[in-house]
Amino acid sequence: MATGTLNSNATVPAHYAELCRQARRAATLGSIGSLVSWDQETYMPPAAGEFRAEQLAELAELAHKAATDPRRGELIAACEGDAGLMGDPTSEAARNVREFRRDYTLATKLPTDLVSEMARTCSQAQEVWKEARAKSDFAMFRPLLEKIFGLARRKAECYGWPKNGEPYDALLDEYEPGATSAEVHAVFVPLRERLSALIARVSGKPRPSDAVLHIKAPADRQHALGLDVLRAMGFDLEAGRLDTTTHPFCSGMAPGDTRLTTRYRDEKFTDALYGTMHEAGHGLYEQGLPKRERFGQPLGDAVSLGIHESQSRLWENFVGRSPAFWRWAWPLARKHFGAALDGFGEAEIVKAVNLVTPSYIRVEADEATYNLHIMLRFELERAMLRGDLKIADLAGEWRTRFKQYLGIEVPDDRRGCLQDVHWSAGLIGYFPTYTLGNLYAAQLWETISRQMATIEADISAGKFIPLRDWLRSAIHVHGRRYQAAELCHRATGAALSADPLMRHLEGRAAMVYGL
Ligand code: ZN
Repeated sequence: MATGTLNSNATVPAHYAELCRQARRAATLGSIGSLVSWDQETYMPPAAGEFRAEQLAELAELAHKAATDPRRGELIAACEGDAGLMGDPTSEAARNVREFRRDYTLATKLPTDLVSEMARTCSQAQEVWKEARAKSDFAMFRPLLEKIFGLARRKAECYGWPKNGEPYDALLDEYEPGATSAEVHAVFVPLRERLSALIARVSGKPRPSDAVLHIKAPADRQHALGLDVLRAMGFDLEAGRLDTTTHPFCSGMAPGDTRLTTRYRDEKFTDALYGTMHEAGHGLYEQGLPKRERFGQPLGDAVSLGIHESQSRLWENFVGRSPAFWRWAWPLARKHFGAALDGFGEAEIVKAVNLVTPSYIRVEADEATYNLHIMLRFELERAMLRGDLKIADLAGEWRTRFKQYLGIEVPDDRRGCLQDVHWSAGLIGYFPTYTLGNLYAAQLWETISRQMATIEADISAGKFIPLRDWLRSAIHVHGRRYQAAELCHRATGAALSADPLMRHLEGRAAMVYGL
């Protein structure tokens, strides 16, 4: 068997080379699935829907076969037993093999009957949930939700969890590798207390007007503004696109191909603008991953949902809602929307996009209250999985805690525990990654502000490339070489904490409300 050092041009062991080749083929298959899904969400004619489901099912089966192929298991074992390859645990090959093992274990641990029962139950639950939400009828959804949490519990048992841990850890680990419920809880509790206090302070203050957000802005003008911002951010449009859809997303489907989508409404042009900046943050991460050389390898792939979300939130909130950004973007908005913006100025828009308003629906929440929506869901799903909270008591518990954290009464379950798609889709353990993203973003932002003396002046001048490049070298290029917590520590010099996010939100509230 050929062996040698792993410098470029040197020979790598045959088992490692075969493992990487096999993974690249599987990822290529996956990229075709992503392209087909993107088409479904954007340009597919409606009548193609039925056959599209068949196409996707076929591809999903092939992808599952590749991910669980016993040959892959043999190759990973051969690599693990190769002292030359694994001798230095920090080498690229050793890191790759560690992550290949993790993926293989996750893919092979669930029995087929559990996977298919989960798929069946969730597809039924989606339909029932839609109807239950429309009718605001929790009792209708309850039996399926009970079944889903039962299956999630079985799934957690198959995966297993760390000593002194709990079932929730096993599910969270799928989305945020290495994170535990106890760690998340330890960061979320002080955040929740300080956020609730901030909201109470703000609620007693006069609310600045948001009239500037309600000007009429045609979709084509909004699209042109979005493209200007994308280009300035350094998103490579030769290696990506921006299209419209009903649910905005980013798909980093292949090397040289990252697709963003957004949506336009006549009112509130900032929704599309921030939607575009958010997805572009994800897109810059995808474009910054070393995919050309490492497609299919863990080192060419994103590390976690929390880190992915930190990239989108950083651009959307920390850059996009800052006074410095509007110094540059206001004249640009004037250029695209013309007289509609007469009578308004930078000061109005900065205040309008930073208002703090408790509301019922998570996806419409502002930057500050958003995190309370997430913490509520994290606490409830963790308690349900443990058995500490009966599913039958979910709706009532939701109302009680919602009132406690956000200070408003939930009028009905449609605007309460029935609003999100996640639980009906079996996505339990997913919610915390949204707030982890905000926390990581805040901590990165403080580091960036310390290290880049000219960041504010750069942003005011529309010069975003230095920021993109900082993120590229601190986060993007590493792929899954480090787990999220280690990556955060390396980039910021500290463990994840609630303090930077609170300093940021309190600073913004002070600016808007004069606290
Ligand atoms: Zn996102």
